[in-house]
Amino acid sequence: MKLDQLPRFNLAEFPTPIHCLKTLTKACRGPSIYMKRDDLTSLGMGGNKTRKLEFLIGQAIADGADTLVTAGGIQSNHCRLTAAAANRAGLACDLVLNGSPPTLSNGNLLLDKILGARVHYCDRKNRDARLLQVADELAAKGNKPFVIPVGGSNSIGSVGYVNAMVELKDQLESMDLKPDAILFASSSGGTQAGLTLGARVTGFAGEVMGISIDQTKTGDNSFLPVLEKIANETAQRIGSDTVLTQTDFSLNCDYLGGGYAQPGELEFNAIRDLAQLEGIFLGPVYTARAMGGLLDLIQKKVWTKDQTILFLHTGGTPELFAWADRF
Ligand SMILES: *Cc1c(COP(=O)(O)O)cnc(C)c1O
Repeated sequence: MKLDQLPRFNLAEFPTPIHCLKTLTKACRGPSIYMKRDDLTSLGMGGNKTRKLEFLIGQAIADGADTLVTAGGIQSNHCRLTAAAANRAGLACDLVLNGSPPTLSNGNLLLDKILGARVHYCDRKNRDARLLQVADELAAKGNKPFVIPVGGSNSIGSVGYVNAMVELKDQLESMDLKPDAILFASSSGGTQAGLTLGARVTGFAGEVMGISIDQTKTGDNSFLPVLEKIANETAQRIGSDTVLTQTDFSLNCDYLGGGYAQPGELEFNAIRDLAQLEGIFLGPVYTARAMGGLLDLIQKKVWTKDQTILFLHTGGTPELFAWADRF
């Protein structure tokens, strides 16, 4: 693998910690639940986009870029971390956010503004076009924009999660821990593609299960071809001859609730449970939905008491403040 030869810009301290959620495990009377804290990556309030951005910014710098341009929802964790990472790397940052400017900037949007990113609002349906348009406008002014897709989910960003599996392998060995499954929130695919490929190349024996936040498995918009494409392009990038097919991905789409960024009882209960049992915060959009799914699967006895589950906390805690009126 040529993982170590790819351009990379350091943004955080790794490895992220792993600990046992003893109180939660006891309360659930099911498998042992461990958590890997990718919410604690040290940049700009943390989250999974940090690992992707290390490789995306490495490439941006190698390409001679001076500005990062990316897109997402108003409460995008990816956009907030891109703005934070741009500052660290001495790059400018333009964010294309779908939605209209709220009267009070809260959660991630507040942080985007404090970080000094230039924010462009647009409709959801125009988002992809607006992203390219903003990049064109920058280029016309003599800047060198580097466009990062929504969620940083391409083969460059996904390398960050192959690397996370390499990191995890060492950690699990030193802790003498063999999880039967890793669960995490999956949405734009870079995390799941990287983890699944990483599991294959490092020989991880457990299941790598994405809890879908907003993607479906079947139909015209099936997420599986997206995961397959990112994973195989990532394999090429790291010089591995691994080829993954759609059946290699474990994707649970049973917790889509009211849709993207529409948290309900499942999410709010998971947020209260983790805060009140473990003192750990989840975000309403991603991590609370994934944790709500995990807790439901445990209730349904998918795993036995002698099994071990590792939940990857992908961050998103700043989202909480945008839902203050729901608590
Ligand atoms: C973006 C994000 C995810 C999903 O990761 P993808 O690589 O987009 O699938 C999960 N959790 C949080 C908190 C996120 O911000």
